[in-house]
Amino acid sequence: MASTVSKREKASIVAGRLGLAWILERLPRRPSLLIFNYHRIGSEGNDAYDPGLIEASPDQFDEQMRMLKKHYALAELAEAQELVEHPERMRHCRVLVTLDDGYRDNHDVALPILRSHGVKAAFFLATGFVGTHRVPWWDQVAYVVRTTEKRTLRIRYPRELTFDLCETSRFEVVEALLSLYKWEHTTDPARFLAGVEEACGVARPLEVSERLFMTWEEARNLVKGGMSVGSHTHDHELLAKLSLEDQLRQCRLSREILAKEVGVEVDTLAYPVGSKTSFSDVTVRCLQETGYRTAFSYYGGINRSSKAIARYDVNRIPVAALTASRFRMRMAVAVVTARDLW
Ligand SMILES: [Zn+2]
Repeated sequence: MASTVSKREKASIVAGRLGLAWILERLPRRPSLLIFNYHRIGSEGNDAYDPGLIEASPDQFDEQMRMLKKHYALAELAEAQELVEHPERMRHCRVLVTLDDGYRDNHDVALPILRSHGVKAAFFLATGFVGTHRVPWWDQVAYVVRTTEKRTLRIRYPRELTFDLCETSRFEVVEALLSLYKWEHTTDPARFLAGVEEACGVARPLEVSERLFMTWEEARNLVKGGMSVGSHTHDHELLAKLSLEDQLRQCRLSREILAKEVGVEVDTLAYPVGSKTSFSDVTVRCLQETGYRTAFSYYGGINRSSKAIARYDVNRIPVAALTASRFRMRMAVAVVTARDLW
């Protein structure tokens, strides 16, 4: 049944929500560390890549940063790290904003907005993409699915699957294929990508003339602008699927490159993908061996002072595309209850 909610009713729902948010914002907050994570700030439909990474339009991001700055105590990366290592020092609710991958729009769009609000965010850069024209695996998959002229896609590896593009939206197919890429049984990612390319009959864009990621000069601008930088590995592969040697290389190389190019000794890493299966005990040992003090995951959750925070599994909250009132409401509930409601 079609929604029959009138504009006036919608306005009153929003007003009611904001009224409740206003009350909640004045209640005592549980000591906690909330870390938000974004990937791309932009408008959907501007390119043929993965639309799932665009969590906010420039206006939404601006609105969200304004709200956070006005109502919450923001932390920089170093302060957040200290709270992770010493949760007993957590007296209030603190909020850290992070952005993963190092897309060009992080510099061109997010940085000026963050600076205009005085928000000091942390950017986790995949060093093998910064300053290049490379296209990452998730955008390759999105591109071939979004531009294919085939009506049926047959995937053979890691299991037989058929997608009917007349029945399933291209966005859902992209999501399904990316989940399959991340699946622990997909042990040969190159074979999987070649299979998707063949099924779509479209050549994967490995490199493109328009640049998707920021340059090193732009990465240095982040630091000049008061932002922090961390590692997101070098090639953005799922660490848990790599051999010990390859995991060590990914952790060490990205750290060395960031020191050389940006002049920062990074000691925090955000796991590519960030799900519970994207890293392992072996990964943690590799991080310790290569000089990392903390590592951030990405499957949700709030870090609370009442429980020991795992230094190599610091929780971050995905920011799905949310309206300003919904974002404010969720935030207000989360800091009062310190419950994982995201
Ligand atoms: Zn990433």
